[in-house]
Amino acid sequence: MGRICYFCEEKDRVSYFSYFCDECATLRRLLLINSPKKCIDILRRTLTRDDQQLDFKVQQEIKSILCKDIRQKKNKDNEDSSYLTRSKNKI
Ligand SMILES: [Zn+2]
Repeated sequence: MGRICYFCEEKDRVSYFSYFCDECATLRRLLLINSPKKCIDILRRTLTRDDQQLDFKVQQEIKSILCKDIRQKKNKDNEDSSYLTRSKNKI
């Protein structure tokens, strides 16, 4: 009584001074990692599906994020190695 989560309005808050239950607090922390616009885009694209479509879409999103990270790392590595190559040529 009086300790219900302000977001889901179902579960008890983590503590008297917290606004959210444990799950909603975790959700909030995860959403804070990215910009609100990016989170809204991802949630709109993923949560408007049935469970099977949702699982497939989540896997697809994870793969695209991982591939993007790998591409960025490869590009950074290439820039670093090209810098080393140029510096060798100067010497
Ligand atoms: Zn909650």
